[in-house]
Amino acid sequence: MILDGQSPSSITAAAQALQRGDLLGLPTETVYGLAADANHEDAVLGIFAAKNRPHANPLILHFDHLASAEPYMLAFPAVFKLLYQSFCPGPLTFIVPKSSLVSELITGGQETVAIRFPKHQALQHLLKEFGRPIAAPSANLYGQLSPTTAQHVYSQLNGRIPFILDGGACDQGLESTIIGLENERVLIYRYGSITAEQLAVHLGYTPEAK
Ligand code: AMP
Ligand code: MG
Repeated sequence: MILDGQSPSSITAAAQALQRGDLLGLPTETVYGLAADANHEDAVLGIFAAKNRPHANPLILHFDHLASAEPYMLAFPAVFKLLYQSFCPGPLTFIVPKSSLVSELITGGQETVAIRFPKHQALQHLLKEFGRPIAAPSANLYGQLSPTTAQHVYSQLNGRIPFILDGGACDQGLESTIIGLENERVLIYRYGSITAEQLAVHLGYTPEAK
């Protein structure tokens, strides 16, 4: 079923779907995501099954803002706070040490977790109403193009997921930039919507690829 991301009752229906452990296609400012309650192990397993995604490929956790994410990580370095203040909510994903609240299903067995603070209005409303982290990789079948409209999600995942929240076409169409910290330096794990030059303005150096 396609839910209208502009309607408050649809946001409530989407939050209830996540609470039940259902999968939900949803809009972000980058590409559409395939979402589940990050604390619901069967729902998270469902993401991998619906996409045919290998279990070793970790998922990003989405939060409305930094305070909501704090219980799920062991540290958020000062340099990340600086970048958070400049770019979030927005298409920047941080790799941080995970707390025990994050299942290894999410991280592919790693001790780090990817966290992001998306800007899309419908997803911000959903995160606030749901009140817990949402795990969401891109809403494509494994190896295919990431979708930028609800119709693209429907054409790839129809029959595999019960709900899609339609938030219109994505602004960016390009994935979030993923960064981590090693030896006090920011490294780029994946190039995306925010460029190395944009990060350099705040860091005083151009971050290199991991
Ligand atoms: P997707 O949401 O489909 O763009 O996929 C999430 C991306 O985040 C994948 O490319 C993962 O490899 C990356 N990712 C997620 N968690 C981690 C992590 N702990 N360390 C490094 N990369 C990660
Ligand atoms: Mg992807």
